[in-house]
Amino acid sequence: DEDYAVLAEKTLKDLEWCLEQLETVQTHRSVADMASSKFKKLLNIELERMSGGPRGANASTANQIENYIKSTFLAPIPPRLGVETPHADELSVLFNESLDKWGIDIFRVDQLSNQHPLVTVVFSIFEKRDFLSKFRIHPSTLVNYFTGIEEHYKKDNPYHNAVHAADVTQSTHVLLNAASLVNVFSDLEILASIFACAIHDVNHPGVTNQFLINTENELAIMYNDMSVLENHHCAVAFKLLQEPNCNILKHLDDSQRKQLRKMVIDMVLATDMSKHMSLLADLKTMVETKKVAGGCLLKLDNYSEKMQIMQNMVHCADLSNPAKPLPLSTQWVTRVMEEFFNQGDREKALGLPVSPMCCRETANIEKSQVSFIDFIVHPLWEAWTELVHPDAEHILSTLEQNRDHYSELSATREAEEQQQQQQ
Ligand code: AMP
Ligand code: ZN
Repeated sequence: DEDYAVLAEKTLKDLEWCLEQLETVQTHRSVADMASSKFKKLLNIELERMSGGPRGANASTANQIENYIKSTFLAPIPPRLGVETPHADELSVLFNESLDKWGIDIFRVDQLSNQHPLVTVVFSIFEKRDFLSKFRIHPSTLVNYFTGIEEHYKKDNPYHNAVHAADVTQSTHVLLNAASLVNVFSDLEILASIFACAIHDVNHPGVTNQFLINTENELAIMYNDMSVLENHHCAVAFKLLQEPNCNILKHLDDSQRKQLRKMVIDMVLATDMSKHMSLLADLKTMVETKKVAGGCLLKLDNYSEKMQIMQNMVHCADLSNPAKPLPLSTQWVTRVMEEFFNQGDREKALGLPVSPMCCRETANIEKSQVSFIDFIVHPLWEAWTELVHPDAEHILSTLEQNRDHYSELSATREAEEQQQQQQ
């Protein structure tokens, strides 16, 4: 009877394991992955038996052995979706429906992920693109690294925080799926683009390059006033890779690691807004002389051509908030303006001239959105849309609708003000 009881208990545990696998089954998980998880589970059962339970005779020695084996041979298995959250099921549904779509509700991702939007977005994209096995990245290393990156985004910034980083990363993930870009970029180039987006504003202090230069901030001194923030974002990101159990690039070969580092730096430095006009000029030239290889596939011959497209893609994603569905776009505007106003407050307190759009008393938010779209965002998205035609048409039309919305608001406000003046 005792034998049967033991056998029954063991069978039950095996069944439990099977059920758990079925519950969390992800079709793309490899058999090796599942087998490894089964071995770990079995090892845990053996370790429990060895200690005879918490008050067993061998508890203390067994505990030491257990701790040693667990810490040495069992790298921790990160939670589903990379983050601990009571809303994992809801988040999973949201990602199943919208991870690949333009206009995912990134603010809801923030809430459902327990305020870890960047870790969960990156984790899900890496899983979806099979980067964990392609680049032999251990899931716990991925979580460690991007948790570190996320911690270095400042929560107090209304705009330049981890939600913005997650937004830009997910937007690029969608842009990469354009039909004309299929097979244009290698896995390494795609990895570099996603990585660059995730880190592109890390440790942003919530003020502009010009503010840092004007106040002789130590970052401006360090980088000689040149792309101060963008240099800092790159440096923070590559420094964090050196922390224990954080090097997600550990299993790349030297050449791949060097190439990836160069690409990431080239993309992040190009997010400096002072580079906008030259990036746009490159993009327009490329659109005019657009090379296509059969069908509508883009043909890019060398590093420079590819990099121009990658830089413009990340720049588009960075300037994509005005092209998102209006309820999302308006939240971004509130956030970016609040950050500008905070800078304006600091400039006033320091007796410095207040930067454009940074004075909370005199700024005209609606009008500045119309100008920002007309002069900066629309020309960029127009060129991108032409490049990847017909993939981004819906993005351009959302941008145009949002522009008209702000233009109408602005006109209504002006009319009201005129009426008030007449009275
Ligand atoms: P980054 O600092 O890398 O996020 O670059 C984007 C820059 O574009 C921001 O710093 C802002 O200066 C500007 N920007 C983005 N969205 C808006 C917006 N909706 N209205 C005005 N400026 C914006
Ligand atoms: Zn940004």
